[in-house]
Amino acid sequence: MSHTLSQLLSFIEENDTKFIRLAFCDIFGVQKNIAIMASQLPHAVEKGVSFDASAIPGFANVAESDLFLVPDLDTFSLLPWRPSESCVGRFFCNIRYPDGRPFEGDGRYLLQQMEQKAAQAGYRFLLGPECEFYLFETDERGRPTLTPFDEAGYFDVAPMDRGENVRREICLTMEEMGIQPERSHHEQGPGQNEIDFRCASPLQAADDLMTMHAVVKAVAAQNGLFASFLPKPLPSKSGSGLHLNLSILKDGKNLFEHFAEHPDPTAASFLAGVMRRMPEITAFADPLPGSYRRLGCFEAPGVVSWSSQNRSSLIRVPAAQGADCRMELRSPDPACNSYYVTALLLAAGFEGVQEKLPLPEPSNYDVYAHGRERGLTPLPSSLGQAVELAQKSAFLRSVIPEKILENYLQHKQREARAYTDSEKPYDYELRQYFSRV
Ligand code: GLU
Ligand code: MG
Ligand code: MG
Repeated sequence: MSHTLSQLLSFIEENDTKFIRLAFCDIFGVQKNIAIMASQLPHAVEKGVSFDASAIPGFANVAESDLFLVPDLDTFSLLPWRPSESCVGRFFCNIRYPDGRPFEGDGRYLLQQMEQKAAQAGYRFLLGPECEFYLFETDERGRPTLTPFDEAGYFDVAPMDRGENVRREICLTMEEMGIQPERSHHEQGPGQNEIDFRCASPLQAADDLMTMHAVVKAVAAQNGLFASFLPKPLPSKSGSGLHLNLSILKDGKNLFEHFAEHPDPTAASFLAGVMRRMPEITAFADPLPGSYRRLGCFEAPGVVSWSSQNRSSLIRVPAAQGADCRMELRSPDPACNSYYVTALLLAAGFEGVQEKLPLPEPSNYDVYAHGRERGLTPLPSSLGQAVELAQKSAFLRSVIPEKILENYLQHKQREARAYTDSEKPYDYELRQYFSRV
């Protein structure tokens, strides 16, 4: 919803809001923020609030010193888990250079540009993420343990499912913040849960995902639990995916309608474009060394394929009605920067549309067992391999500014090496990432 500054200032005063968080996402998908006093908001909107970009990993070398955070007025929300007196509000920000130019490493900017390009060509996208995560118990000092909160499985009910009240609080908090969770349930793994969002514009959906991560972490902590978005926290259990459901609209028509019977040529080429580029995009979609222990098992894809039913496929086009008609991309995991991944997804699909790329046959069989022997392209099997593919990709260079891409891939290469060089990679991963992701 659009708000003017004066509307927001009245709301802030009426609601006893004293602190305003100015939030953004670094290139690795980690939310960062600074709090300003509410009285500083008009100044922040007019001039921006400076921060030391060289201290944000991934931004350094691109912007040598200060960048500015300019609140996006359409993103205001109170943080319901903070005190109800002297409240805290939050904006997502656009990142700018001192002279006002947009900072090219800002994923929101990248995604906004991609949406604009699509709009100029007459397309509109709707994105509905489904996000999985684990709930773990904490120890007597409040530190995370690897003991799952329950032993329940897919769609289980209480008392097996101990997460129902946590999910309830998560959904209600999201609603309070103006986000519409549509479904929630216990997932396959012990202590594993899922929240599915109502579809929205891609930028809105990516912002909402950032909010959702914060809500899940905060609600879990309030319940004495630890929420983990690590793609594969328990080696022998289901991993956590971030499935991206994408609809394409042209002149008000959903191009994925009746896809199984008569695929729309634009939607088909879009899908083909995504399939062609997904191995290159994987360094972004599956960003951690442990992401690759998730792929290729427990309903997470391992090869490039599409199907209308098969959950081992990279892309599913489920049977659906009206606005729900969509493609579901199943490889990304919740540790990714969803602004970058969505921008890359749109760019790859669009490239396919421009080239009128033909759609390969659907793989309506068990692609885990037979995908490779039938010649399907594998997704990278390690972060190192994903980085190698990304380094050779002219496509990635056409979407992501060069220095940002270089920073990202160098960092990922170091992470990949440290993981494979460590004596016990899984232990190493837990030490490095468990309490952070
Ligand atoms: N947890 C699976 C994954 O890693 C997905 C299960 C499902 O289809 O919801 O992507
Ligand atoms: Mg699921
Ligand atoms: Mg799904």
